[in-house]
Amino acid sequence: MADLEPRGVIIPTDTIAARYAHVKRMVRNAELASRRTLGSVRILLATKTVEPARIIEALDAGADLIGENRVQEVTAKYDALSGHRHESHFIGHLQRNKVNALLGKVDCLQSLDSIALAARLQNRLEAIGGELDVMIQVNVTGEESKNGIAPDQAPDLISAIADCPRLRLRGYMTIGLHSTDQTAIRTGYTRLRMLRGAMAARGLPGATDATELSMGMSGDYLIAIDEGATIVRLGSAVFGERPAP
Ligand SMILES: *Cc1c(COP(=O)(O)O)cnc(C)c1O
Repeated sequence: MADLEPRGVIIPTDTIAARYAHVKRMVRNAELASRRTLGSVRILLATKTVEPARIIEALDAGADLIGENRVQEVTAKYDALSGHRHESHFIGHLQRNKVNALLGKVDCLQSLDSIALAARLQNRLEAIGGELDVMIQVNVTGEESKNGIAPDQAPDLISAIADCPRLRLRGYMTIGLHSTDQTAIRTGYTRLRMLRGAMAARGLPGATDATELSMGMSGDYLIAIDEGATIVRLGSAVFGERPAP
């Protein structure tokens, strides 16, 4: 198992490029320590509250995947970022009335959390002639404040997605337990990995192609990699602390 950084990450230098290089090294070391294939974990930069110039610094340093939480931030930054090659995921709660504003501006919705939202996406994608990668957000910790479906709702949502030909199910996303208890954090990530396996084993439509596990943030990504994360979502480890909301 990898050496685990404590929560409250110690940032070695103060440029975005150096911090990005640092987390890349950490991810690589964690892949080795956890006997994962090198390159099997992608870094998504969580860019909420980060202005385009700083995001571009990260892209110039080699980052290729970013994620926003709010539709308003996606649209506000879209033009400034469009000349810089990258993939863009949406990782926040998506309200149905914001679907139109988002479609065409992101490559993947990681936070699909209801059959109604899947139907709405299908309907609008049909109208504009597009397709969208999606991941199912699962609340593995059972905290009431968290978005995402309960694990036992996954089969129904997977079946509903399979009935939406414009949606391609890529995998599962979760937000880890906010805690200093590393064992409890790990338990949540184990659950997401087991859910992926269980859905594929049941032969649910599309479930064998749903291989991605998006889990782990700045404070706990080494645990997540050890549990099989294929995407870790890092914000403060690269951009520094965010202003309080
Ligand atoms: C902000 C955010 C992250 C990154 O959080 P850090 O602790 O700053 O790394 C990851 N995932 C989601 C959904 C977020 O909103």
